[in-house]
Amino acid sequence: MNAPPMFRPLTLATSLATCLALSLAAAGCSGGGSSGGGSASTSAASTAPASSASGAAPGSSTGSSAPLKIPAEVALEVIPSDLEVRSGPSAGDPVVARIHAGEAYVHLRQDQDWHLLELGTQQGWVPQSAIAQGKQQTRRVTAATLNVRSGAGTSYRVVGQVAQDTWVAVLDTDGDWREIGFEGQRAWVHGAYLQGAGVSPPRATSSAGFIGLPASGPGFYSYTSAGNRWGVPNVIYGLERAGARWANTGRPRAGIGHISLENGGPFPPHQSHRYGKNVDVRPVRTSGEAPVTISDSAYSRAGTQALIDIVRAEINAHSILFNDSGVSGVSYYAGHHNHFHTSTR
Ligand SMILES: [Zn+2]
Repeated sequence: MNAPPMFRPLTLATSLATCLALSLAAAGCSGGGSSGGGSASTSAASTAPASSASGAAPGSSTGSSAPLKIPAEVALEVIPSDLEVRSGPSAGDPVVARIHAGEAYVHLRQDQDWHLLELGTQQGWVPQSAIAQGKQQTRRVTAATLNVRSGAGTSYRVVGQVAQDTWVAVLDTDGDWREIGFEGQRAWVHGAYLQGAGVSPPRATSSAGFIGLPASGPGFYSYTSAGNRWGVPNVIYGLERAGARWANTGRPRAGIGHISLENGGPFPPHQSHRYGKNVDVRPVRTSGEAPVTISDSAYSRAGTQALIDIVRAEINAHSILFNDSGVSGVSYYAGHHNHFHTSTR
């Protein structure tokens, strides 16, 4: 399958509409952008693995066909934006980790339609409907830092960087360019700086199931140390999506502060920030990146309103505390003149 190159902005919800010629009967392309699973509308399945059970034509199944046999040691790509990994091969087994769309893991073995994946230092099981085996390969980054772009060419916007020796999952090819999984989304890098084969390590997950927000990324920087910005994956990846949207506004990067400690719990002086679901964010300035309070001349009410609206949408915040009464959708709370505080359920 050589789909024409498409511009896929990172700000869109992950849409695996191009479903990589997949051969997994149950892994339908979820064309609408919601997480995978469900529909078996696989199209253009052109290459069933040699080890595929004979006769089980991909895409033609209706429930009763045998699970597709997938060889060990191949890399499997995650389809849903947020996938629970379990300690055993059934939906009743406890959740031990969460992994994300575009990430790739080595397949260890199979039990019916469940698959055991290598997740760095641990292992876990996921259902066949949530993974995809495609043209995917994994490669090591050889450049000191490699620009990641929204499309296959230097004319596309830089949306981030990956560091040397990072492993990335290669999802598609367009000339010299390679589409990779990047922060739960898809983006492009030049193929000259990728080498070898292997697997991409998962983002480090704390024992509480939190992941860390990077020190900076498209549209944002953090003004606190790495130990103070752990959160649940939906919130962390949501902040990164919000940053990518915010980058499009051309305003100064958003400043993100305390979230939670690595495993949550009390985080003085905060009352909250215990569960990886509260985030402090600086108000927006008319220019520059520095602290600002709502009484400063450098404070931008319009910018702050725009940022609050984007953050609220991307992390699904149900409450935001902030003390500019001219900003809509926020509640007054003592001490929130120089940052807004979000809560996600
Ligand atoms: Zn707070």
